[in-house]
Amino acid sequence: MKPLIGISCGTFYDRDWCPPSFGHRQTYVDAILRAGGAPMLIPPVPDELTLRMLFDRLDGLLLAGGGDIAPVNYGAEPHPNLGTVDPLRDSAELPMARWAVAEGKPVLGICRGIQVLNVALGGTLYQDIPSEIENALAHNLSYEREDWTHLAHELRLAPGSRLRQLLGVERLLVNSLHHQAVRDLAPGLRAVAWAPDEVIEAVEGTGEGFVMGVQCHPEALQGGADPRWQRLFAAFVDSCGTGQRRAARAA
Ligand code: MN
Repeated sequence: MKPLIGISCGTFYDRDWCPPSFGHRQTYVDAILRAGGAPMLIPPVPDELTLRMLFDRLDGLLLAGGGDIAPVNYGAEPHPNLGTVDPLRDSAELPMARWAVAEGKPVLGICRGIQVLNVALGGTLYQDIPSEIENALAHNLSYEREDWTHLAHELRLAPGSRLRQLLGVERLLVNSLHHQAVRDLAPGLRAVAWAPDEVIEAVEGTGEGFVMGVQCHPEALQGGADPRWQRLFAAFVDSCGTGQRRAARAA
């Protein structure tokens, strides 16, 4: 049995007269498949009981990229440069992130996902890097170049971190498609990577189990631009076991 990995969906709008779609970019699915997992898209359902039923079937949770988290979730007033928010998605991802950490279910957050993880556990965010951090780098450069694989800035990895161990280097270049970032770190998380402007670019859980968030988009790099990131997805999926845990719960 392959581990069943839930990928939290975003809301996508195409035509004005069409209802929105729930889904996510193919690269997330590709990365989980390559790592030996069975990907399953999790829509942002509005009631917690149904959400819990979906969550219980998963062996691991991938919190995927997307728009901004509503600042009410971390006790802040909206900044004028706050981007598009998706309260329904917030209301699905925040509890799932808390459940995963509390129950030792492996969780990997990517871009918005590192922010969801931090907010879910009690941390805060910069709502707009360019207007809130002096002399910040261009963290939305890969987006502006319209190239997910554009390497925008360097990462400095913390000694002794799982991420540094996996990647096998102290520094590497990454893509960057974000205007928000981790501000105050939540209890239970530690920063393990920084951009040259000291913006936090990765976090890990301080306890047992796989809890990790990255601000870059490794799912867009692992397929060719930087295959070293395959090791992150492999470690994540491996930590999700063989599905036996899920079978045991169902019995
Ligand atoms: Mn960045």
